[in-house]
Amino acid sequence: MAFFDPKAKNIANYQRSIDEKKVSVSRYYDEIGRYYYKQYKDLNVDNTKDINTRCDAITKLTNEIEELNVKILYEKGLKLCPSCRTENNLEYTFCFKCGSRFDEQASAPAAEAAKVEEPASEASAQAPAEEETPATEEAPAEDAE
Ligand SMILES: [Zn+2]
Repeated sequence: MAFFDPKAKNIANYQRSIDEKKVSVSRYYDEIGRYYYKQYKDLNVDNTKDINTRCDAITKLTNEIEELNVKILYEKGLKLCPSCRTENNLEYTFCFKCGSRFDEQASAPAAEAAKVEEPASEASAQAPAEEETPATEEAPAEDAE
């Protein structure tokens, strides 16, 4: 069974984490759409802050998904070419497709690859606002001036 293969277990953990992050990203896209529509309908509404918070969260999650994909490839003995994104064997010095040279440091993922955080708690920790907050929808963003 896969349980005895640490590589398979790591990959499964990374994959689960990726799936959770993708769910969060979809939710933020939905929320951004709703916030944007509200201010489209009512010019007195300014949801810029709420929208930007979610855009930042999506950027962060997308980067984390990218890192997790690199870690999965590493477990499989593969790495991505930084130029053409083709999967290469870890031992390759040059991309077999485009010939780009691999940066030695960049080929290995971050050192803490072994410890996988709890995906569930991680996903909720990143949520700018997990629950619906109707209060902020009526109130215009705090005006600095
Ligand atoms: Zn390449």
